[in-house]
Amino acid sequence: MNTHLNLNHINQQTVLTVYAHADDEVLPAAGTLRLMSQAGWNVHCLILTEGNLSSSLVKGTRHQEAEDAGKIIGATYEFYALEECNFSTQAVIKVVEEAIKNSHPDLIITHAPQPEKYGHRDHEVCAIAVSNVATRRNIPLWYSAPPVFLRGFEPNFFVDITSVIEEKIAAIGCYESETNKTFMQLDAILVLSRFWARELGQKEGYFEAFEISRQWVDASFFTALAQSKNKLKNSMVF
Ligand SMILES: [Zn+2]
Repeated sequence: MNTHLNLNHINQQTVLTVYAHADDEVLPAAGTLRLMSQAGWNVHCLILTEGNLSSSLVKGTRHQEAEDAGKIIGATYEFYALEECNFSTQAVIKVVEEAIKNSHPDLIITHAPQPEKYGHRDHEVCAIAVSNVATRRNIPLWYSAPPVFLRGFEPNFFVDITSVIEEKIAAIGCYESETNKTFMQLDAILVLSRFWARELGQKEGYFEAFEISRQWVDASFFTALAQSKNKLKNSMVF
């Protein structure tokens, strides 16, 4: 399909994240995004809403907090003002199509689709719309872990973020207006990061988990794997 587009951007890969609210991106993916920006990727975060229905008292607070987080992650942000709890899949599709036209992403990361009774309605609508676009455009797509209630999320790709855990914590800390949320608490963040490590049989370290929805690779993927030192210890004991 449009894979030739990637040849034009071969020197700098771009990851586009699409999330409903500012702060949705840092909790599940700040470490991975930081690793990508360190590796020279262009990291672009798209936020669909203003976040006014959340705990933020001052309009625009979360946008400023996002910009601050972006400085730590190495990400740029783009904000839209879709109406919280009321935007349609069509509205999201339009926004994402436009963003793809501008940034030519090599990878998109978004919310994991979950049944509405478990997840946030906005997350679900966003996930469905982004999945639709990524499939039609043949763009690799990963789902990130939900903030709470992991039901329906089936992680199959784990990223070792141990080297950037401090930056992840700092990025989350930028969202001061959201600190009353239990899943934004430091111990909860560390426990979940350790939980994913435990799933891999790792006695130490911190991980982020993703579910690959679609992904294609070429020969360079295997070259990179062969060149990397796989530090994961095969220590899984049941
Ligand atoms: Zn959210």
